[in-house]
Order: sequence, then structure tokens, then C-alpha cells
Amino acid sequence: MSRARLLTFGAVVAATVVLAVLGYVSLRQWQASAELLFREQSRDMVIMAAEKVEMAMLKAEEECLSSLQALLMEPTLRPEALEEWRRKNPIFASVTLVDHQGRVLYPPGTSPPALVREIPEGLWDRGGRRHLLVGDEVVLAAVIPGSDGPVLAVLGRSVEGVKRDVLAKTLGGLEGPSVLVVLDAQGDLLYVPRPIDQATRVLTVAFGEALPTWRVALYQPQGLSARGDVRRQAMLFTAAFALLLVVIALGLVATYRLLRHETEMARLKSDFVANVSHDLKTPLSLIRMFGETLELGRVPDEATRREYYSVITRESERLTRLIDNVLDFSRIEGGGQRYDIGAHPVEPLIHEVLDAFRYPLAQRGFKLDVAVAPDLPEALMDPEAIKQALANLVDNALKYSTERRRLGLSARREGTWVVIEVADEGIGIPAGELGRIFEKFYRIGRSETQDTRGSGVGLALVKHIAEAHGGRASVESRPGQGSRFSLYLPIVPSPLGGEG
Ligand code: ADP
Repeated sequence: MSRARLLTFGAVVAATVVLAVLGYVSLRQWQASAELLFREQSRDMVIMAAEKVEMAMLKAEEECLSSLQALLMEPTLRPEALEEWRRKNPIFASVTLVDHQGRVLYPPGTSPPALVREIPEGLWDRGGRRHLLVGDEVVLAAVIPGSDGPVLAVLGRSVEGVKRDVLAKTLGGLEGPSVLVVLDAQGDLLYVPRPIDQATRVLTVAFGEALPTWRVALYQPQGLSARGDVRRQAMLFTAAFALLLVVIALGLVATYRLLRHETEMARLKSDFVANVSHDLKTPLSLIRMFGETLELGRVPDEATRREYYSVITRESERLTRLIDNVLDFSRIEGGGQRYDIGAHPVEPLIHEVLDAFRYPLAQRGFKLDVAVAPDLPEALMDPEAIKQALANLVDNALKYSTERRRLGLSARREGTWVVIEVADEGIGIPAGELGRIFEKFYRIGRSETQDTRGSGVGLALVKHIAEAHGGRASVESRPGQGSRFSLYLPIVPSPLGGEG
């Protein structure tokens, strides 16, 4: 193949490789940044949810405390009023009220909780509230002004109350495939608004000061998570891209093969023209030489003269054969070849072909074996076409035989076929070439290196003729031992429907 073509091919291959690498890299980058984006978006969403819960919690506590303050402002503290308050504020499981002197105002008759000592003086003076951690539990300590001076309220939380009054109200209504879940201090599921069996935890975020030990977690269904979407899309892109590359590669291979075939064809055609011209020249110059000699009257005796005439006849026959070959071939190529097929005996045909080659066979000392099976049925054929095919095979046997010169011609029946064989003991054909010799213009080795001239269309013609008859042509050959070409022709079906 030419340098320019190779360069073009190289450029296309290089461009494809660059495309593949760029595509892969940008796909990976896109995937990474899309995943990052999704992660950030999810994180923002969870942080917002956590803030909402935190604010709801603070607001709920605020409301509880202000209603408690209203109770404490009354001149006397009524335990029933406090019981009532507790029923109305279920987010607290326990309430202890202590005055500045350390006396427990409620529940009556209990000792003050230990954390009273931890309340700084400042809080007693200024009032206010603080979340304190007792073990894993969050306790709200608030100093509230009362009718008899500041009162410290120590409020223990009810997990159930918080779940129902705060978490369910803030997180319960969320729609969409993602689920926001609250985890306790141990990381166990504490509040789950919807079933999450099929979902995986994507990320967790801590709450603020009001819920210091709990965390909110985002769960996403396995197949449905945004990250899964990205992965699926990336996979789809990769597959499409790979397909594209495969198509490009296949296209390249196909183009390469086509180009190679075209180049080979162009070479074979130019060989063909050179070979045919050469083949035409040899008989023409013989005819001319003998014709001129005869014309000049330089031939002494009658016998020699007759021989000269027969050379002229023979060579013109050879010319005719050659021209017929080329013309038939071009007709076949143009699709215009017609055969006149009918039932004909095979044996006379074989003798006619041998007659045409009698002189070259005798001159080159060929031993001839002809074997036609007795009772050979007639074959369905166009006799002229079959003669031409056989002439080509015999001509090849002559051309490609060196020391051992034997030509075998036989005809026999094989099932529904008449098989005509042309065998020689010539140079033979390498196994690797057997599949190609029936191709048009194909000759073994380049014509410059091959001594024997030929057009390369002989066997293509034989094959075409055989197939046009509904039969086939085949070859068996061993290099150095000889070749055997077989022509299969259908026999005439018997009128009884048997095999003939
Ligand atoms: P050509 O005009 O070259 O003989 P053919 O189509 O008849 O063209 O044959 C194709 C090629 O097959 C030949 O070039 C030759 O190399 C090989 N070939 C054909 N017949 C024989 C044979 N009997 N023995 C050895 N080689 C053969």
C-alpha cells in the first residue's frame, strides 16, 4: 500500500485513539464532579433538615417554658396545675422545680437533683436556660422568674414525646425517594418515617446544641440514588462510546481490506493486460513468420510446406481460443453470457478437445490416458462452453508440467453427476493457493517471476461455466506431484424420476 494511504490510515487511527482517551478522561471527570455535586446537594439538604429539627425543638421548649413560667407566676404553686401542664407538654418526661435555696418545690417530697450544684450563680441572677448532658440524656435546665423569686426547672426529655411532637412534624412529611432518619447516641435507628429496607445510608449530619447526641442520616434507595443515576449514565456513555470505537475500528479494517483488494485488483488487471498482449503476440509472430516463408516460396518440399500450413492453422486456433477466453470472460463480467444447455454425450466432446491439442501433446511427448466409463449417461450442458472449459484445463496441464508429462482425461458417473477429470503430473499447486486459483486474474506468483505466460482468467471461466450448468469445479493438487481438476455436470434426469 502506498505511503500516502498508510499515513492517512495512521492519522485516522491516531485520531481515534486520541478521541478514545479524551472521551474516557472527560467521562471520568464528569462522573467525579457529578458525584461530588450530588453529595454536596445531599449534604445541604440534610443540614437544612437538621437545622429545621433543631429550631422546632427549641421552639417547642420555648413554648413549654413560657407556659411553665405562667404557672410559676401564680401566687401559689398548685401541683394539679403542674400535672395538667405535664400532660399538655409530652416532650418532657420529668419535671423538677427547685428554688434558689435548694428546696424542691415539685414533685413534693423529693431531694434536689445533683446537677443543681452545677448551675452557675450567673444563671440564677440573669435567668435563662441551658442544655446539660446527663449520661446520654439531654436535660433542659432553665431559671424562670416565679412569684417567690427565681425557680430552677430541670426538665428531662421524653424520647417518645420528641419523636411524635418534633421529629414526626418536621421530617415525617418529606416526599421523594430519599428518607431522613434520626440516629441515637449509639448510632441506632431512633426515628424512621418510612421503611428503609432497600435503602443505603448516604451521609449523616449532627444536630445543634438542643440535640447534641443525635444525628440525622440520609438514606437513598439502592437503585434510585442520584449517584446510581450518574453511574448508570456513565456506563451508558461508556458503552455507547465503546460501540462507536468498535464501529470506527471495523470501518477502518473494512476500508483497509477494501483498499488492499482494490490495489491487488488494479495490479492483477494490469498484469492481465500485459499477459494477454504477450500471449497474443507469440502465435501471431509464428503465423507471420511461417506465412512469409511460404509466401516467398522458400519451402523446398511439399511435406514441409504442409507442416507450415498446419502450424499456421494450429496457432490461429490457439489465437481463437485465447480471444474467446477473453471475450467470454468480459461477457461474463458484464453479465451477458448465455448458455445453450441441452442433453449431450460427454465422450465425443473429450475427443474433440484432445484433437485440438494433438499436435502440442505429441510435440512435447505427453503420455495420454483417456478413460471414459461405459454407459456414461448424457450430461446437461452447452457443449461449446464445456469444450472451452476442458480446453483451458488441458492447456493448463500442458503449461504447468515439466519433466513428467502425463495427461489423464477421464469421465465417470458419481450419483447425479457426470464428473470429467483432467489430471497432470506437473508442478502442482501449494495448498494455500488452492482457494484462490479460481479467482479472476489470479495467478500463482507474480507474472514477472513466472515463466509461463497466461491471462489468469482460464480457471475463473471454468468455475463460472461449471456453476452456470448447476455444477461445480474443484481441484486436488500436491506441489511437485501434479494436479487433478474435476468438472461436475448434472446428468439428464430420467423420465421415470430415477437417476437416469
Ligand atoms: P493462467 O492463464 O495463468 O493459466 P488460470 O486461471 O488458468 O490462469 O490458472 C490460474 C493459476 O493456477 C495459474 O497461474 C497457475 O499458477 C495455477 N494453475 C492452473 N492450473 C494448473 C496446473 N494444472 N498445475 C499447476 N498450477 C496450475
